[in-house]
Amino acid sequence: MHFMIALNHALTGEAIALTVRRPALAVVLAFFSHFIVDAIPHLGNVAFYTPGNPVFPYILAIDGLLTTASVAITCHCARDKARLILVCVFAAILPDILWLWYYAAGRPDFWFFNFHKAVQWYEQPIGGATEVCYAVGASLLIAYIISKRRVKKALPKK
Ligand SMILES: [Zn+2]
Repeated sequence: MHFMIALNHALTGEAIALTVRRPALAVVLAFFSHFIVDAIPHLGNVAFYTPGNPVFPYILAIDGLLTTASVAITCHCARDKARLILVCVFAAILPDILWLWYYAAGRPDFWFFNFHKAVQWYEQPIGGATEVCYAVGASLLIAYIISKRRVKKALPKK
């Protein structure tokens, strides 16, 4: 189906926004992170995860809700970086938003989309397990980064 769940792209964008010091660099890295995350084995080649299947819209909706919740929580916990987090998450998801244009335009033969497709070399049902592991791991990493930031802030300034 040519995409990993949006949640994992969003989590990657959040982690980059929290760790990369230069905002412009963070946004660029967030955009390119999309293709690295897409190269991780993910769910595909299964009937319920195909447009037109009655279950498919529910998966998109759940993914959307989890993504929104994740971005909202991270922005809330790192308010000073909220704007950068939002921009990085958008940049990290942007290549998948371009699929909408791709299908609306009648699947144009353009290198960007061919590359975006080719990068997703593994899309099988078992790939869903890696997606869940990635989501849990990335969430834990972000929680750790935020807790570290809090400790740093709580320490008296020298
Ligand atoms: Zn993608």
